[in-house]
Amino acid sequence: MVDLSIAQMQRQLPAHAFAETVVTWQQQHGRNDLPWQQARDPYHVLVSELMLQQTQVATVIPYFNKWLTRFPDVQTLAEAPEQEVMAHWQGLGYYRRARNLHAAAKTIVADYDAVIPQAASELKEIPGVGPYTVGAIRSFAFDAPAAIVDGNVKRLFARLFELPYAVNHSPHDRHFWKISEHYTPNTNNRRFAQGLLDLGATICKPQQPLCHACPLQQSCRAFANDSVADYPKRKQSKKIPTRAGHFLLDISPAGVLLQQRSSEGIWPSLWCLPQVDESPTGTHNFEFKHIFSHYKLAAKVWLTSANHTKPPHIRVPYAALDDYGLPAPIRKLLTTIPWDEVCNTVQ
Ligand code: SF4
Repeated sequence: MVDLSIAQMQRQLPAHAFAETVVTWQQQHGRNDLPWQQARDPYHVLVSELMLQQTQVATVIPYFNKWLTRFPDVQTLAEAPEQEVMAHWQGLGYYRRARNLHAAAKTIVADYDAVIPQAASELKEIPGVGPYTVGAIRSFAFDAPAAIVDGNVKRLFARLFELPYAVNHSPHDRHFWKISEHYTPNTNNRRFAQGLLDLGATICKPQQPLCHACPLQQSCRAFANDSVADYPKRKQSKKIPTRAGHFLLDISPAGVLLQQRSSEGIWPSLWCLPQVDESPTGTHNFEFKHIFSHYKLAAKVWLTSANHTKPPHIRVPYAALDDYGLPAPIRKLLTTIPWDEVCNTVQ
């Protein structure tokens, strides 16, 4: 395994040839009909990019369309109540993204007259907009030069140049950014950036990449050395611990008791079954598991009638649960509960 310098990469695959190949391929074979590609509106790009973090394109499309119907522009989103924003995000998970998007809209209205800026230095100041989103907004909305790196792009570079850097180890990210910056052209940025993402997502796939259909095959070191399966390199991830969690299910004919979580920690600001530190006495009636990035939650749900009705607790009628932003596993649990049976148990 050789750690190539940028100059060696340039000799292997000159920047102008790389850009031309990617742009031509994108035009013919890339994804050009995604809903957020149509208007080339920076707000559409911002919304779609936040939704696409950790979520597949096919899942995002209906959420994106519904989102634009309710929040068609930055101003509308900035003025919307947080509960409605969270309710529109529910099911997509990683709710911090929704809060960031809401905060971003408020910042854009307050600091930029509701117009998303083009300069990287200004974009970086907007909540939730990291280096990837800066690159996406600049290239997709403004067709301006901007490097872009995501998991797909890292995998593509790792195989093209047989890179020794681990794609899941953030200190190594700077190497991928340096390569992306080197290969970013001065023109046709929208197509180039989309082409990089499309190649990584649809051709240089994690499993069984379609090397026979890859326009970069002739320049690919991993292909030439028959080492495609050895790349990208990954750092062995640590086993994550399991933590117990206890939730109270307090129901009555008037509905289920929910508690709004704090803006910090897991499921920030979402409505949830009240959580307690210790297991109450008695037997738990339901269980669910959920995996967060740092631990697994093994939850037990206890039927109770603690009857906390003061804020942040409220009793929500079953038919109105859709109006509240609930964590996905809690929503799933509530939809699977045999209400009649459970109501009889607590009476
Ligand atoms: Fe990826 Fe195969 Fe193309 Fe190399 S030839 S970049 S491994 S798809």
